[in-house]
Amino acid sequence: MVKNVGVLALQGGVAEHVAMLESLGTHVVGVRKPEQLTGLDALVLPGGESSTIDRLTRVLGLREPLIEAISAGLPTLGTCAGLIMLSREITDPAPGQQSLGLLDVAVDRNAFGSQVASAETVLDWDDGTGHPRQVKAAFIRAPRVASVGEGVTVCARYRGEIVGVRQGNLLGISFHPELTDDTSIHKELLALA
Ligand code: GLN
Repeated sequence: MVKNVGVLALQGGVAEHVAMLESLGTHVVGVRKPEQLTGLDALVLPGGESSTIDRLTRVLGLREPLIEAISAGLPTLGTCAGLIMLSREITDPAPGQQSLGLLDVAVDRNAFGSQVASAETVLDWDDGTGHPRQVKAAFIRAPRVASVGEGVTVCARYRGEIVGVRQGNLLGISFHPELTDDTSIHKELLALA
């Protein structure tokens, strides 16, 4: 059966995720309203500017429905700003910025980004399921994961910093797979769906 995948479509790199997910044969829904969260098999929170995405989710009444759907088990991939949105704690938030508090990690929005403004590389990825692999990764003003809670698996590091994590139905990555030709992270999300 064709899977329904939502991409939060408020700001940022939405089109690239949509294209990659469609290339994998899924039906993609650009999520701008709470009712569009109904009937999804998986969800992507894209990169962009996390403080803007946060503000828009609250203005549009999406914050609580997102928290509800993801905590109920909806497989969710957060890339870059999407990882920041998923996190329990932002060490350096913009004034008034909130995260969804679902992924048990603390993130630095800018610490890592200022060291590596933009780069494309290949990372070792191991999500603990016994199939380690390499993934292509593009970094753009990337956040880093400063600390992780007990239930979180560290899947990838870049220059010693944690840039990929998994916790149950949640995948959080600092980088942008949708800007490369590597579909393996999206396939991993669909495997959870
Ligand atoms: N550092 C950005 C933020 O705070 C994220 C950058 C990105 O998503 N490419 O949202």
